[in-house]
Amino acid sequence: MQHAKEVAILGAGIAGSTLAKALADRGWDTVLFDRKIFPRHKVCGEFFSPESQSMLAELGLREVMESLGPSPIRQARLISSRGGELTIPLPGTALGVSRYSLDVALHNSAASAGVQVLTGTTVTKVVSSGQGYTIETKQGEVRSSYQVRAVIAAWGANGRSAILDSFHEGESDVYHQVVARLQSRQQSRRQNSGQKLTAHIGVKSHYGGIEMGPVVELYFFDGGYIGLSPVEGGVVNVAALLKRTSFGNSPKKILEWIDEACARNAKLQQRLASGFPIPGTQAAIAPVDLNRSALAWDNIPQVGDATVMIPPLCGDGMSMALRSAQLCAPIADRYLKGEISLPAWQQEYTQTLHREFKGPLRWGKIVHTLLDLPVISPRLLQIASFTPRLAYKLVQATRLRERDA
Ligand SMILES: Cc1cc2nc3c(=O)[nH]c(=O)nc-3n(C[C@H](O)[C@H](O)[C@H](O)COP(=O)(O)OP(=O)(O)OC[C@H]3O[C@@H](n4cnc5c(N)ncnc54)[C@H](O)[C@@H]3O)c2cc1C
Repeated sequence: MQHAKEVAILGAGIAGSTLAKALADRGWDTVLFDRKIFPRHKVCGEFFSPESQSMLAELGLREVMESLGPSPIRQARLISSRGGELTIPLPGTALGVSRYSLDVALHNSAASAGVQVLTGTTVTKVVSSGQGYTIETKQGEVRSSYQVRAVIAAWGANGRSAILDSFHEGESDVYHQVVARLQSRQQSRRQNSGQKLTAHIGVKSHYGGIEMGPVVELYFFDGGYIGLSPVEGGVVNVAALLKRTSFGNSPKKILEWIDEACARNAKLQQRLASGFPIPGTQAAIAPVDLNRSALAWDNIPQVGDATVMIPPLCGDGMSMALRSAQLCAPIADRYLKGEISLPAWQQEYTQTLHREFKGPLRWGKIVHTLLDLPVISPRLLQIASFTPRLAYKLVQATRLRERDA
């Protein structure tokens, strides 16, 4: 079937949904695709940083967030494998909210703004054609094509190749899927650039029965870290970023990755002992590649994780997704109005995005690298506990700056 639209957004996560709404708010006939059926659980720390909130407000989404009953978070607590702790006040109040609820709420507000939201619909091909693009999609057995004037990729870190980037426990052997995917990625990466891929695996599960105050807890151990974040309804989200090479070759299910990680940090093990994983909330993602450089434009404009991924430790991926949507929307609007050319859109968006993201990305990678080193990380926490101001400054360096109103 053939359809005509003005704009297509590929991927309906945080970046795609908010960008689609922003363009529909400006009067553009917008279609938003996502291959997943929602609601779904997604690997994410579910820590919505303080700076994200002013962005949500600017995008007209503050009430949407409030309606979900998120948990306020005012401090970050870092706990090393040797038991050392460091508590840092956050530069504002963060919110804990599940992606299960948030992503659907964002779809609903995009739909209310006039966006056609098509979930369970995979984008299989994007072809430049005349004055615009032809987008091919597959929904079950139904194939469709869309003629659009502009297209923006919001398909996350692993979307470009249009292969599945996440799967759920119960879908047969999780470990073998992860390894097969990593191996094929490694192979193609080596072939393409000769670079070695230091890939991580992300896993998550919601837990009940854990009491948490307004604090996000990060537990470090040899081979990665786990974050505990209170989300809505008294539930705690447990999300881990694990170095593949540190976790051996034996097949594992999602909760087994978490158990194995727990065995590497006694305080984490104690913390989770009173809790229980909530069935059906497990998810995994691989590979998580933190070595990509920012790429604002790859034949088409990109927003969110499609552009670049800040180390999850910084808890700022969602705010970067929102900011990239905020940056992209007004420039896309001018292009659609015929005020600027496609190359001018590319140049302006690329420059603005690099300018805003450069600092937080650089510091995010430094902090991640230091805390990822098993020898350095306990010492670093010890030193930082004597100089809390320095620790606070370091956290701030990884954040996006608030924009002037
Ligand atoms: C372990 C871990 C912990 C994290 N913790 C945090 C945290 O606490 N706080 C924070 O702010 N960030 C965190 N992040 C990062 C955060 O999850 C991402 O930055 C954020 O999800 C990016 O949003 P996005 O919209 O760009 O991409 P996504 O949310 O990934 O959305 C992309 C969408 O595109 C769809 N898609 C892909 N390909 C296609 C296709 N071909 N056709 C149709 N649809 C497609 C996918 O199904 C997906 O829904 C974490 C990440 C990891 C891995």
